Amino acid sequence: MSNAERINLLGLDGPALTELVGQWGGKPFRARQLLRWVHQRGVNDFDLMTDLAREFRGQLTERCSIHAPEVSMEQRSADGTRKWLFDVGQNNAVESVFIPEDDRGTLCISSQAGCTVACPFCSTGYQGFNRNLTTAEIIGQLWFARRALQADAQAARIGNASGNEPDRVITNVVMMGMGEPLLNYDQVLHALRLMLDDNAYGLSRRRVTVSTSGVVPMIDRLARDCPVALAVSLHAPNDALRDRLVPLNRKYPLAELISACNRYLEFAPRDFITFEYIMLDGVNDTDEHARELIALARQIRCKFNLIPFNPFPQSGLKRSPSARVRLFAQILIDAGLVTTVRKTRGDDIAAACGQLAGDVKDRTRIAERLPDRAVIAIHQERP
Ligand code: SAH
Ligand code: SF4
Repeated sequence: MSNAERINLLGLDGPALTELVGQWGGKPFRARQLLRWVHQRGVNDFDLMTDLAREFRGQLTERCSIHAPEVSMEQRSADGTRKWLFDVGQNNAVESVFIPEDDRGTLCISSQAGCTVACPFCSTGYQGFNRNLTTAEIIGQLWFARRALQADAQAARIGNASGNEPDRVITNVVMMGMGEPLLNYDQVLHALRLMLDDNAYGLSRRRVTVSTSGVVPMIDRLARDCPVALAVSLHAPNDALRDRLVPLNRKYPLAELISACNRYLEFAPRDFITFEYIMLDGVNDTDEHARELIALARQIRCKFNLIPFNPFPQSGLKRSPSARVRLFAQILIDAGLVTTVRKTRGDDIAAACGQLAGDVKDRTRIAERLPDRAVIAIHQERP
């Protein structure tokens, strides 16, 4: 059997794996054992799974595989930020970024190759839509990154007798890479369940964030199926402007979006929604916009995360000057709104939020425009 014909176990969440094992006559605890081998220990060789019965290992070897998408490029920043480019076939590539901080490590992962929403400030949007990632490709990013970081930590311990090198473990996952996660709902849902499963990654709901441009019906489904932390890409305080900046707003306007966010809060692991707001020079960054935002924020418990725009040539847009961002933030803070400005990290590798590469051809152009955009900016509220 070729790898393509085998079942990739990275794509099966707890219930799906239990069902598969059940079809072979195995008990549910076998599925739990298998989950732990695959996700906690990062093992992809069935022969090493020593506490599984030999016959069961034989069945697994014959019919299953464990493999992440292939990594076609890897970059490290001086500040510890890491970026991987995963080849997902047919000239499509997606990226994941790891950002270490003192008290946590955040992995930002992708959900689609390209994106249909086509926000004019986002280079993923410019690439058009290629396809949804499978659960195995989504979880594969986490599985791979975790193994790579653990191997690094181990090497550092060996090379560093004083043992001062901190472990670079992933404590938080944010779905803020390429694609709109709620437009790839089923695959993302299985991936989220694996992130939360104690036998897999065991992350708490507060430490897993889905970022969405505002797919209202899917926000409601997520509330029922798997309520994790929610970040909403707001970017504009009124429908006229948001229709332009986030075209999905024409389908789900602000009033509907805010209502969906309020419904979500009844299930959410945090008692606020994070609103992401990209700062675009002269477009959405005036005092008047800030005041409109304050009026909107009265309708919902929320926090603001202001994102300095990471420019790229086709967008024709500019980043707001930092003094403007500070003043804008101050207006929100003075109105009692919790507001943070997203930090810039890893400015020696190109891994900017909203500028992750879609396909190999596009990579060339990105490399050419590197000096313009060497900023990484992914930041999550502290749990
Ligand atoms: N599709 C989802 C998640 C992926 S985008 C969403 O839109 O929320 C993740 C975040 O990156 C969003 O808040 C998005 O608005 C932001 N982003 C996109 N392009 C950007 C850019 N050029 N500079 C800074 N942030 C950007
Ligand atoms: Fe898609 Fe999000 Fe980019 Fe908009 S910002 S085009 S929704 S990935």
